Formats: sequence, C-alpha cells, structure tokens
Amino acid sequence: RTPLAGKVALVTGGSRGLGAAIVERLVRDGAAVVFTYAGARDRADALVAELTAAGGRALALEADSGDVDAVRRAVARTREAFGRLDILVNNAAIARTAPLVDVADDDLERMLAVNVRGVVVATREAVRHMDRGGRVINIGSINSEYVPFPGASLYALTKGALSGFTHGLARELGARGITINNIQPGPVDTDMNPAGGPNGQYLTGLIAVQRFGHTREIAGLVAYLAGEEGAYVTGADLRIDGGFAA
Ligand code: NDP
Repeated sequence: RTPLAGKVALVTGGSRGLGAAIVERLVRDGAAVVFTYAGARDRADALVAELTAAGGRALALEADSGDVDAVRRAVARTREAFGRLDILVNNAAIARTAPLVDVADDDLERMLAVNVRGVVVATREAVRHMDRGGRVINIGSINSEYVPFPGASLYALTKGALSGFTHGLARELGARGITINNIQPGPVDTDMNPAGGPNGQYLTGLIAVQRFGHTREIAGLVAYLAGEEGAYVTGADLRIDGGFAA
C-alpha cells in the first residue's frame, strides 16, 4: 500500500527522533521525502542510505531552521529535486528550559528563530507552490496548553505560536484545497525527552496510559493527515499524548 505515491514531502529536522520516524513512514507510504538536519550529517546520510536501499526516495539537506535563507533554500531544493511539493512537516525545534528570570537573550532569540520563524518561513515558501491536496503539518506540543512543571514558559510560548498560526492560516489555505494542522504530542521517547532521563519517571506518572509515546505513533498521525482521508481535518490542534493532559 503506497497511499502517498507521487507525493513529495519536506520534513524539517528529520535526522533523529520524531522527525526520522515521520520521514520513514512517509517514504514507506510512497512519498519522495526531503528532510533537513542541523548538524548530524552522519545520521542523516545513514537514514537516506537505509531508505534508498529499501527502494524509497529520500534526500537529506543541512539547513538550520533558524537561518531564513537556509530554510528558503531547502524548500526550493525540494522542488528542484523532486519536481513539486505536496506535504510540509514542520518538525524541527529546540527546547532550552530554564526559569524565565534565567533565560538569556540569546536563548530567547534562538528559540523564536528555530521554533517559530523557521516554521513561518518554511510554510510561506512551501504554500506558494502547493497544489490542491497540499498539506502543512506542524509538530507543536501539548505544552502549549498544559505545562505541569516549571522552566518551560518559553518553549510553551513557541508551541502556542504554532497553534495560533495554524488556526489563522487554515482560513487562507482552505479554498485552495490545502490543509494545515498542529499535532500536539505529549512525552515521546527521543533524545530531546528520553523516557529513561531524569524527568522520565515523573512524567510517566502524569500520563494516563503510564508510558511515553513511541515516535512511530506520532508518525502514524502525520501519515493520516497527509493522506487523502485527512482532507477534512484543518485548523485543528490534535492532541496525541496518552492522556497526559486529560
Ligand atoms: P530531537 O531533539 O530528538 O530531534 C530534533 C531533530 O530536529 C533532529 O533531527 C535535529 O537535527 C533537528 N534540529 C534541531 N535543531 C534544528 C535546527 N536549528 N534546524 C534544523 N533541524 C534542527 O527532538 P524530538 O524528535 O523529540 O522533537 C521533534 C519535534 O517534536 C519538536 O518540534 C519537538 O518540540 C516536538 N515534541 C517533542 C516531544 C517529546 O517529548 N519528544 C513532545 C512534544 C513535542 P540534528 O540531528 O542535526 O541535530
């Protein structure tokens, strides 16, 4: 089954974690996928080699989401490589946590640049060229609405921004047959938030199903939204959090 055959996707931050699982799933579903990474060239190359060996079409680009020109180029190069762009997954983000009074100006600017401006620029550049059936899928966070611990106000702010952006832009894209949604995962086991890390046990206790999410579970929701059946979902914040915020 290749429900995304003929489609072209761009996934930001696809070398590890959730982004890598999304890349794998979209390729398996038949899409040609370009993904960006910030520094992990070896991992990115290894992922491309693995997917290509299995008959998929994938390409990795180094592109810092905090760099406007790099983001713009990544969108252009996706279209050059595979001829079109149907699906944009805004996944790349950083999480620098600290009490607000200890947040340095540099951290503030970097978080806004990567988590917010990078998403806006990628989306603007991508939707210029999207045809009917296009999809923008943001990876926000349940922390935009529920933050049961201190130190994450800035991270929550950046993820809340994606929610508002999604609602607003849905009204511009709807008539063109393009959807935009904001997936809000709860704790998912990745380098950013390892289930075995210092906060793992505490967080697990707050999750209704008593475990961290698997990256493939989030990738499954992305695949649903990207596919034809997802066409009637737009402007939505979609919780996928094991009942963390229930
Ligand atoms: P990881 O830190 O494990 O992976 C981040 C990925 O993004 C890597 O591929 C990394 O590339 C890339 N990346 C980081 N910074 C940049 C940048 N400036 N430009 C381009 N790419 C970049 O994160 P997760 O997989 O955990 O998170 C993915 C998304 O899911 C994020 O938006 C995060 O906020 C969100 N999320 C995560 C949750 C969790 O519990 N894990 C919960 C809710 C939301 P490289 O390998 O080169 O460093």
